[in-house]
Parts: sequence; structure tokens; C-alpha cells
Amino acid sequence: MKYRSTAGKSPEVSLDEAVVKGLAPDKGLYMPLSFPKLTDDFIMRLPEMSLSEMAYEVAYALFGEDIDPEALKRIVEETLNFPIPLVKVDDNKYSLELFHGPTLAFKDVGARFMARLLAYFNRENQDRIVNVLVATSGDTGSAVANGFLGVDGVRVFVLYPKGKVSKIQEAQFTTLGQNITAIEVDGTFDDCQTLVKQAFLDSELKDAMMLTSANSINVARFLPQMFYYFYAYAQAVKAGVDASEIVFCVPSGNFGNITAGLIAKQMGLPVKRFIAANNANDIFYNYLLTGKYTPKKSVQTIANAMDVGDPSNFARVIDLYGNSYDNIRKDISGTTYSDNEISETLLNTFKKKGYLLDPHGAVAFRALSEMLEPEETGIFLETAHPAKFKETVEHIIGEEITIPERLMAFLKNEKKSNPLSADFGEFKNFLLKNR
Ligand SMILES: *Cc1c(COP(=O)(O)O)cnc(C)c1O
Repeated sequence: MKYRSTAGKSPEVSLDEAVVKGLAPDKGLYMPLSFPKLTDDFIMRLPEMSLSEMAYEVAYALFGEDIDPEALKRIVEETLNFPIPLVKVDDNKYSLELFHGPTLAFKDVGARFMARLLAYFNRENQDRIVNVLVATSGDTGSAVANGFLGVDGVRVFVLYPKGKVSKIQEAQFTTLGQNITAIEVDGTFDDCQTLVKQAFLDSELKDAMMLTSANSINVARFLPQMFYYFYAYAQAVKAGVDASEIVFCVPSGNFGNITAGLIAKQMGLPVKRFIAANNANDIFYNYLLTGKYTPKKSVQTIANAMDVGDPSNFARVIDLYGNSYDNIRKDISGTTYSDNEISETLLNTFKKKGYLLDPHGAVAFRALSEMLEPEETGIFLETAHPAKFKETVEHIIGEEITIPERLMAFLKNEKKSNPLSADFGEFKNFLLKNR
């Protein structure tokens, strides 16, 4: 399978090239040239298949030409070595719990797959070293660092804003060592992201070292997120719900997660429609209302992994629907909630249903509660474990919550990070010295 750029001004590339480049040279996002259609027989068999069996068939349809089948099978199995249960929260409403992986967030799936894919391609290119740069406000850095830990031929640089990341999150990428380097930037998350973007544009750096990104602009990070939509569907059908009335609701920031779902639908998964649930960062919501896309500066919310003012995968959403505003509106509806509304939903769901949401899941659960038709079944993506947002969640429910053992384990190890200013020259020298 070849990959083309959504901006249409770069040559088509192989999967390997799309992964090591991240962004296309024309600043577009890479998309598979076509979406292979899965058979009706495959869809019928889903309820009898295991997560890794169905994920392998989906992966084979997309990546089968580019990776040896045995290796692909191993990559899929190693990626998905934790459960992704569908849990009933209320009538017609289910939570797809994506937080049972090593860093307790859905980003584990994409990060683990991408790391193993890069390791596979590196085996064919023994002398190359790929440098992954990642700016994080918490979740991305931990998932990427843990996913790539110990992978041959890959070095990871995690940039995070000093004093603005919770202790637990910081421990997840500053205590690992080996091929993971943490950079503590004296600045904001936006400063970290600017440093990474500048690095990708710097020709001297690009000549000196291979640089790529591991956020959802990377095809190897976002496409594997398709797997769990199939699995959620299979579990819902097994539980007896009407297979033609399934609605997915996705708490969205950069829109990588929902885009994977939209592609699953194009490949044949019977999804009735999607809801993109947003916090106060309402850019997509406004697009649906007006047909105009107007990026804004992000505003800070309690669902902070969704504080995005210019969603990077918007270009892919537009591209998937051939630029048709009407077709986008037919498949996707949107909503936006304030911090007060998020807190209220989190508290009420805990008190009345006995289910503890994290702030991101709460945005999506509220959207289902307000927007689902009686005949529909809603599945929302619970993207992180509530304990990752301990202070916020405890403040809302007025109770202490327990931190899972595997999260606590990170706090036992010694923190190692490299303090830098937000100055690009300093960052560039650091990269050149540490390559
Ligand atoms: C990253 C993240 C999101 C947003 O996902 P996108 O793919 O950027 O839309 C939502 N919830 C949590 C917990 C996240 O870490």
C-alpha cells in the first residue's frame, strides 16, 4: 500500500517512509491510497473472534503487502496484550475501557504498534537510527516512552513543560532511561510543541539525523486505533444489541482517535453514526454549525488531553469525506461542554450509576446521555483511567481514589531529566550532541 499526502503536493511513499517521515513534505498528512473493504463474512464472524484475531485481519488488509504476515501477527499480538472490555454503564450506553494498558490510556495501543513496526523496518535497515520527538502535556509522552522503551534503532526525546505535568505522569517518562531522554522545558506545552515543529523544519537537523513524530499525525500511531472499534462492535453484538443501531462517541482533541473509527466504517464496520465530544475547545463543533473551520488558541480545561485549538487530524476528516460538509454532517455530530458540565456528569455517574469516569470519558458520556435516540446503542471511548487525573477527580467526587499498582510502580524509580530553556538554539544543540 502506498501513502499519499492530504495536501496533494508530495509524492506517494511506502509505509516505512510514511512512518519515518511523520508529516509529508508539503505539510499534509499521510493517508493510505485506498481503504480495502472487509468482507461481510468477516463482519459476521466478529463476535466469535478474539481481539488479536480480528485486529490481525484488519491489519493484514491495510499492511499485508508491506510486512511479512508472521511478523505482522506478532506485532499485533504484542501490541494488544491487555484487555479492552466493553462495560455497560446505563441503558443503551456502554464504556469501551481503553485504559488497561501499561500507561492506562488509549494511546498505548497506537504507541505500542508504531514502536514494533519501526523496529521491524529497522531490522531491514541495520545502521539507521530514527529519532522520535514528542511534545507532551502528559498522556502522549508516557505512552510513547513506554511503547518505545528498548526498541533497537529508535531514540525518543520527550519534551514536557516544567511543573505543569502531574507527578505520576512525569514519572512515566523520566524514570525509564535506556533509549528514552526526557527534556524538561522551562515554558508551556505550546513552547514544547513549537520546539518540535521547528526541529522538523530545520534543514541542518534533518540532514544530521532522522526525525519523526509519534503523535496521531503518524499513520502507524493512528491507524491501529481502528482495531478496538471492531472489538467494541463485536462485544456489543454479542451482548445482544441491534447491530445496525450502534453509535460511537469519541472524546476528541486532535481527532486521531475518531478518524480511526471513521476509517473502520469505510472499511466495512457497520457504524450508524459518530459523535465527536469536545470540551470548551469547540472548533469542530463550530465547523459543524457553520461549515467554516476557524482554529483558535486552546483554552485550559479539566479534560486537558483535549485542549486543542487546531486539531491536526481535521485535514484527514475533510479528506475522507471528499471535502463535503454535507457528508461530514451526515456521519458526525458534535457537542461542547464546560468544565462545570464535565464535573456534574462525572459526579452524577459515580453517585447514581456507581461508575467512575475520567474527565475525558465524562465529556463523551454526557454527549451520549443527551444525543442518543431511544432505538440506538451508544458506545463511548473511555480514553484514560480516572487515577491519571487523581487530583481533579478526587476534588469532584469528594473522595480519595486508589491508584492502580502498575501506576504506583513508576513513582519508585529515580527521575532523570534534562532541563532546557524554550530557546530553539539550545534544543538543537542538545539534539546534535545526543544523537
Ligand atoms: C489524547 C487523548 C484524547 C484525545 O484524543 P485525540 O486522538 O487527540 O482526539 C482524549 N482523551 C485522553 C485521555 C487522551 O489522552
